[in-house]
Order: sequence, then structure tokens, then C-alpha cells
Amino acid sequence: MTIRRLDPIVMDQIAAGEVVERPASVVKELVENAIDAGATRIEILLREGGCRRIEVRDNGSGIPADELPLAVASHATSKLRKPSDLEAIASLGFRGEALASIASVSRFEMTSCLQDSQEAYRLRVLFGRPEDVVEVAGAPGTRIVVDDLFAELPARQKFLKRASAEYARCSAWVERLALAHVGVGFRLEHDEKLRLEILPESPLRERCAKVFGQGLSERMIELERSDPMLQIQGLVGPPESARRDATRVHLFLNGRWVRDARLLRAVREGVREFVPLGHYPTLYLAMALPPDRVDVNVHPQKTEVRFRDERLVFGSVVNTLRRGLSQSSWATRRVGEIGSSSVQEGKTPSFGDSSPSRGFPAPNTFGGAPSVPVSQATPQFDLQVHPADVGKGKVLSIGKTFLVRQVDGGMEIIDQHALHERVNLEELRRDLQNTGVAVQPLLVPALVDLSRQELELLLSRSETFQRLGVEMEAFGETTLAIRAVPARLQRLVPEQLVQDLLEIALDHRKATPDQIQEEALFRMACRGAVMAGDDLGEEALRDLLARGADLPQDRTCAHGRPVRVFLSMEDLERAFYRR
Ligand code: ADP
Ligand code: MG
Repeated sequence: MTIRRLDPIVMDQIAAGEVVERPASVVKELVENAIDAGATRIEILLREGGCRRIEVRDNGSGIPADELPLAVASHATSKLRKPSDLEAIASLGFRGEALASIASVSRFEMTSCLQDSQEAYRLRVLFGRPEDVVEVAGAPGTRIVVDDLFAELPARQKFLKRASAEYARCSAWVERLALAHVGVGFRLEHDEKLRLEILPESPLRERCAKVFGQGLSERMIELERSDPMLQIQGLVGPPESARRDATRVHLFLNGRWVRDARLLRAVREGVREFVPLGHYPTLYLAMALPPDRVDVNVHPQKTEVRFRDERLVFGSVVNTLRRGLSQSSWATRRVGEIGSSSVQEGKTPSFGDSSPSRGFPAPNTFGGAPSVPVSQATPQFDLQVHPADVGKGKVLSIGKTFLVRQVDGGMEIIDQHALHERVNLEELRRDLQNTGVAVQPLLVPALVDLSRQELELLLSRSETFQRLGVEMEAFGETTLAIRAVPARLQRLVPEQLVQDLLEIALDHRKATPDQIQEEALFRMACRGAVMAGDDLGEEALRDLLARGADLPQDRTCAHGRPVRVFLSMEDLERAFYRR
């Protein structure tokens, strides 16, 4: 084999691998170009998650006709002139490779018209092969259309996900850029439906409302640090809006959305005592530094950064968060609540655990099998419960947590929560196999505020949840309505349920519907169970024991903790040195 220089088109396609991973990267690069061109209105129109078409229109400076071929040439940019410019980058772009990359892997069309001009010019590039520039009709600004991304590169196309997943990533980038650029208006359409509209003059909090939901945005508190070397401006959400992953953390550096492991660690450190362990807050945090104090030329996608003064930056992020949070209304009370609930339940604290009702009183009976009224302390009662219990006495409740009763050959101690959890799990499984899960419509649908991303994620799994008896639908752009819950699990608190399902969907993005169903089943079985400390009436107690009498598996709860402990006469005798 002889060594040859690569064909320029192939070179661009190889380079494109780093910049253009999927439709979302195209959206990001095109919108960034529009912002760099001084646009105040940017329209993004997508089809099939951007896989079929991505169209971005702006009212920015426009590109002169004779520069159009250069704009799509690799390593051609108007944003850097001399080598030293690389030391202090003020624009979002600077590498001059985005358009060349995009045009080499799609059917690309760029129409541009200068601000004070009447004439627009168009350049088409078909998978790297440019056509001639022609004059066309058009308004000032630039319009770029990217069709059939990767269509001639089956190896790349293979990595694209379903349109809905690709769309979610595209809209995430639009949201990030919209948060970072107050003064610029955004309009996002997907398959001809308007999905997001932000006016140029819309202030930051209004933008947060569009991204995180109205209710949450109103509760976010302001963070501020003013120092010419490092200015920080931020909004942070209340503890219950924290998530296990960083999807709600938005960090910006000089108008650029960045993702940096050490910055995220600084964020976690800053919120440590305010959100549950291992959680990230809902956060908008914009840092402004003199451009020569940071290096953004670390990676082609420009989301990684290096700081000259790392200590100053990380330390300031931690302190700004701490200071702001310590003045918030939720600072102290909540911390106490986390502590107590985590001790009580012996698991990772999660918000909402400690407030079971939040406006949705949990009925005091177990959902599901109707409890048959049986007169108290009749011998038949135990006969019904367990054949082994014939003629044995009452059930004692100890500390509203354990149930103790005499059984053949000794005594048994039952953990009421663990038993109920196991009962729920087995009954739901049986329902799923037989008739399906019976649903209980809510009198008033429960409305839960979510971000767009979260809403879409949950809705993308709604069929699976429906099978489990949870009926949900979108109620506006950032609100989810829960219309029904499983009839057996009337103790479920809709808001908590949404949090749980969201967590499952986030933690198992790649899971099959069956895996999601299994995860959700476990979680709902647990949440729908009585807790340690719940006072069970006589009837509820009997009902629980009856349902627990013939389970296929009742040794352990869904988490693997024991449901019952049996102490034989022999054990007792040994304990009292009778043996
Ligand atoms: P970079 O943004 O790194 O300069 P790109 O390949 O993204 O590289 O763009 C190449 C050049 O094309 C830019 O430097 C800019 O001059 C021009 N350009 C691209 N998009 C636009 C736009 N929407 N409006 C005006 N000029 C644009
Ligand atoms: Mg660019």
C-alpha cells in the first residue's frame, strides 16, 4: 500500500466525527454561530428529532456572497485573526470547522443576506460536494438547512437513537443556549409543533420557568458574587428539586454551557448540607471571567474548560452556593427533616419521604383486597390467617413497627412495612399476569411541575407505567398530570410517585420496558406500603396478615430485608438458660 493524502471530503468527514456526533451537536453549532453573528431572534425547526431536517434561521449579520464557500471550508473562521487571539476567545466559535464538518455529512444549504442588503445568496453542499453560489430571495440574516444527516454514512447513522431521544437532546441544547443568552429570542418547533418560545426581552427567571417549570422557577433563590476577576450570577432551586444526576445543573462560562467534573464536584460541595446526599441541585450558574484566564480550546465540542486560577474558581463556586443557600428559607428546617427520615428508615434520604401527605391524605386502610370485618379475637380469625396458627392468641403491635404473635412451635415477629411491601409486590405481579392492574382514578388529577426534559422522559415510558396502573399525561408544557394510581396502592402520594418514576427513568435510560416495569414495581410496592411507625387499626392489621398468609415468597421484603423472624421454643429456652 502506498501512502497518499486523504481526499479533502474524507478529511472533513473524519473531523466531523469529533464535532458532529448527532443532530443535537448540529443544533448547538448552528445556534452558536447565530449568537456569534449578533442575532436577536433564532428559530430552530426540526423534523424527526433532527435526523430528517434541522433548520436554523437567524437575524444576525449575514455572510457576504463571496465568503459563503469559505464558511463551509475547513479551518476557515472570521473569529480569529492571529495566533494570540486564541489566548482570549470571546466568541462561542473559533475553530472554523463546524460548518465544514456538518456540510460533509449532510445535504446542506445555507442562504444568507447582509443586514443592509436586498440580495440573498445560497450555497448548497451535498455530502461535502459544493455547488455554485446562486442569488435567491431572502431576508437579512442567515438560514441553514441540514437534511438527512449521515444518510451517506451508514456507520454513523447506526448510532442515532429514536427520533424522540434525538429530539430531547436537541431541545436540551436550545434550552441551555436560551438560559445563557438573555437578549436573544428562541423559537423551537419539532415536526411542526411549537415546543419552546422565548422572547428576546424575556428575563432570566422567565427562561428558567420555561426550562424548569413555573413553580420551581419562582422558588429558586438568587446567588451572586461580584469581583472583576470572577463574577458569578446564579439561581438555585429548593432541596426537593434535587436529582441524583446532574441533568438539572447548568453551568455557564462566558456564555458557554460547560460540563466539567471538577466544577460539578464544587457544586456538590457547595450544596452538601442542603440537598440529599449524592444529589445535584437545580441550578443555573453563570460565571464571567476575563477570556485570557480560561482555555476553552480543550476539545472540539468546546464544553470542557481549563482555568488559570483553579482554586479561585472552584472555591468561589462553593462559597457562593453556601452563602446563598444559608440565607434561604429552607436552610435549616429541611436539614433536620432529612436527618430524621434517614435515621428512621435507614436508607438514603430522599425528599418527600418525611412528608407523606402533602395535600394527598393517604387512606388509613390498605388498598386492594377489601378487608372483611371479622369480630375481634374470634378463634376463627387466626384460622383464616394461617393454618399453622390454629387457636393461637392475639397479634401484638410493638412500637407501631413490629407485629408479634404465637405460631406453631414458637413465636414470630413481623416487620409491618416489609410484609406490606412484599404483599404489594406479589399481588401486583399476580395482577400483571392475570387480569392486569386495577386502576383507581384520582378525584382530582395531581399536577406535578417538571422540566421539559423530565416530562418527555416520563411520557416516553408512559405505556410501561400505564401497565402498572399509573395513568399520566402532559398538562401543558412543563406539568404532568397523574390521573390514576393502582387501586391496591392508594397510599401512593402522586408527587412522590412522579419523583420515583423519574428517578427510575433517569437511572435506566437504556433499559427495556420490562426492566423499567420491574424497577417501578419494586419502588411502588415499597412506597405503597405502611411505614414503620404507622399506627395500624385492628382491621387493617388483620387484613395485612390475611394477605400475607399465602404468599409465594414472604421471607424477605423487596429490598431483601427479612419480613419475619421466627423464634422457636428451643430458641427461647436457650435464651433463658432452660436448655
Ligand atoms: P467558527 O464558528 O468556529 O468560526 P463555523 O464553521 O461554525 O466556524 O463557521 C464558519 C464561519 O462562518 C464563521 O466564522 C462565520 O464567519 C460564518 N458564519 C457561520 N454561521 C453564521 C451565521 N449564522 N451568521 C453569520 N456568519 C456565520
Ligand atoms: Mg461555529
